[in-house]
Amino acid sequence: MALHTQETRSKFLQLIFQDYYRVNANQVDIPERLHMREFGMESWDYVWRCPERRTRDASGAEKSIGCGQSGRSFKKFKVCPNCGSPEVQMTSWTRHLGYRSPDALRNDLVVSAPHSVYHSAAFYNIPVSRSMDEKDWQGAELVFDIDADHLDCPCSQDHDAWRCNNPECNEMGKGVPAEEKCTKCGSESITIRRWLCDRCLGDAKRYTLKLYDEFLTSDFGFDPRNIQLNYSGHRGYHVRVRDPRIFKLDADGRIEIVQYINGLGFSSERFITETSMALLTGNIPGWPRKLMVAMIEFIRNIDSYDGKERWVEPLRKYKTAAIEGLLRVPPTLRIPVKGFLGVKSWQEIATQAVALYGGKIDIPVTHDIHRVIRLIGSLHGKTGFNVVPLSRDAVESFNPFRDALAFTAGSLKVRVMGGGVEIPKFRIGDTEYGPYGDDQVELPMAAAVFILCKGVATIE
Ligand SMILES: [Zn+2]
Ligand SMILES: [Zn+2]
Ligand SMILES: [Zn+2]
Repeated sequence: MALHTQETRSKFLQLIFQDYYRVNANQVDIPERLHMREFGMESWDYVWRCPERRTRDASGAEKSIGCGQSGRSFKKFKVCPNCGSPEVQMTSWTRHLGYRSPDALRNDLVVSAPHSVYHSAAFYNIPVSRSMDEKDWQGAELVFDIDADHLDCPCSQDHDAWRCNNPECNEMGKGVPAEEKCTKCGSESITIRRWLCDRCLGDAKRYTLKLYDEFLTSDFGFDPRNIQLNYSGHRGYHVRVRDPRIFKLDADGRIEIVQYINGLGFSSERFITETSMALLTGNIPGWPRKLMVAMIEFIRNIDSYDGKERWVEPLRKYKTAAIEGLLRVPPTLRIPVKGFLGVKSWQEIATQAVALYGGKIDIPVTHDIHRVIRLIGSLHGKTGFNVVPLSRDAVESFNPFRDALAFTAGSLKVRVMGGGVEIPKFRIGDTEYGPYGDDQVELPMAAAVFILCKGVATIE
């Protein structure tokens, strides 16, 4: 895409985000202990800086590279616009920001109208300090990110697309290739265009509710009043636990929590033994009971399981009997079919079931005690959607394509640019749009903003 069209689009989006914040800045959630949070913003334009340094050329003579200049630009360039140095650095991120009052934060949102705004889950004595040591960490909320990126949703093959960045190859295709490598030249440098639909957002919602219901409020016993839920504005949901008892938990402790939820380190030998051939469930909380639920779910869906283990066929054949056995009190794995499955097979089945149906939490987000997380009530620059706060019950009926729309007035003429792979259909409100090739269309504002933010359209 030509640079000037990208520039026009970014400028336009920044302006309408600005209009939005002018009216709605008071809707943003002010995190507790605001003055102890670090804020980070991603702008629509880039800050560039051309570092100056002395070096020697091939003959050994001293020369200098770079001019020391800096500036802002909506265009991304590869060499310094001032001196041509290839070492120019560009970033759209500003971190180490801090606000003493809600108004100071709201004013800044109106003035800068960022692409995205984040704050630390941590509390610091000096949040604006540039080094983590000097910030003086005082604790952090426990945060979880449930994002379709980590869920392996089958719809990804229908609506995502990729392009190889190797200029001699330029291969492109639908879905996300295995290991995220170009299928033609094997290059690891590919650009993936991720999309979102009811299905992957539904999966993310299901895991969010599972995390809330089965782990946080039940196994861990957190008070629902200390758990905040929100739609991420893109492909998932966030969960923040604001219980002072976990603020001081270190990274290792947080990893352990995630591993427990994800069912990592689960040992099926402990639950299924030759002598018992039953699941140890009963009234024991935690994984024993979840294991049974996971196995039932797994067996119910065994027809779509693509593994080739020796137990797959028998399990398909005796699906109903196997589920009936699991539902007995106490559950049994012995079903009245001669030579059905042995203890080893059941242990493997249990392991698969836990891997597929356990929690799906992105570990880095939770364990990084300096991580920033999106500000609730702000706008997400990849969709133009609102980052919506939700109660537990509101999550169930929440529909991002209807309930997270920020721009509902007017319409806009845009040119859709799929770059060779068609833009999948999407729904805004009750209307479905697309799929589009390279089309010129007039769309209601929310739909137009959505595809502009997705980077697949420009303004006519
Ligand atoms: Zn320069
Ligand atoms: Zn390639
Ligand atoms: Zn999807």
